[in-house]
Amino acid sequence: MARECYTKHKREYMKKLIIGNWKMNLNMQEASLYLHKLSELIPAQRTVDVVLAPTMLTLQSLSLQVNRRQFKLAAQNSYWRDQGAYTGEVPAAHLRGIVDYVLIGHSERRYLFMESDKETRAKVQSAVRNHLQPVLCVGETASERANGETRDVLHDQLVGGLANLTADELDELVIAYEPVWAIGTGNNATPDDVKEAVRIIRHQINQLFGARATKEVRVIYGGSVNIDNAQSYLSLDQVDGLLIGGASLDAHQFSEIVDMAYKLEGGRAS
Ligand code: PEP
Repeated sequence: MARECYTKHKREYMKKLIIGNWKMNLNMQEASLYLHKLSELIPAQRTVDVVLAPTMLTLQSLSLQVNRRQFKLAAQNSYWRDQGAYTGEVPAAHLRGIVDYVLIGHSERRYLFMESDKETRAKVQSAVRNHLQPVLCVGETASERANGETRDVLHDQLVGGLANLTADELDELVIAYEPVWAIGTGNNATPDDVKEAVRIIRHQINQLFGARATKEVRVIYGGSVNIDNAQSYLSLDQVDGLLIGGASLDAHQFSEIVDMAYKLEGGRAS
């Protein structure tokens, strides 16, 4: 609800979003212990959305354990059909009530599991249909960057991932700029790189969906974010938050990064 209040106003009131992507780490017991640890370090507050993305198997039990005023949950993936003969898949329809967000088109899905823009688009649509907030990940590879293709890649991934949505359906969308060369490499993008990519992303959203959608969509950065570089992104007006992989598995780093965002927002614990 809080976010709806924010989105009626100008962009400067956009709530920051910090997502921890635990990837394929932490089994049920470890995840439960880690959630407990984080809940002692990160107070419930209203000025930053803190989202945890554990493995699919742990989501349900963590959803019973989590204080939703403190943390929201995200799935790292979901399938686009609502039901049927699709062995091994978990649809967005089954994640309703368990998670609030779902990551879609993460580069590990695109490049290790060969997910196409068409599948990504179908997944975004199924998330919207099932009232989950899609976090659409986009970003260029090292060779695309070297060839000066960043703008084209972002264009193609955004058009490919968002075609057929209406501007109203974009209200809950988050776009994560995650250059593939920066993910898990320690080679984080510079704030100027991120500013330029976010500018391109917003320009593209404006072309596709108009000014209101451009203002309301949250664009976050991910790629080797850690305690030493997080502030440089969080203090950019253009960046609405962070998607953090490796450092989200370190309770000290993750909680300190949330605290940075919280202090920048000037918020109070509730
Ligand atoms: C990610 O998994 O989305 C990510 C950005 O990972 P890392 O922070 O480890 O680069």
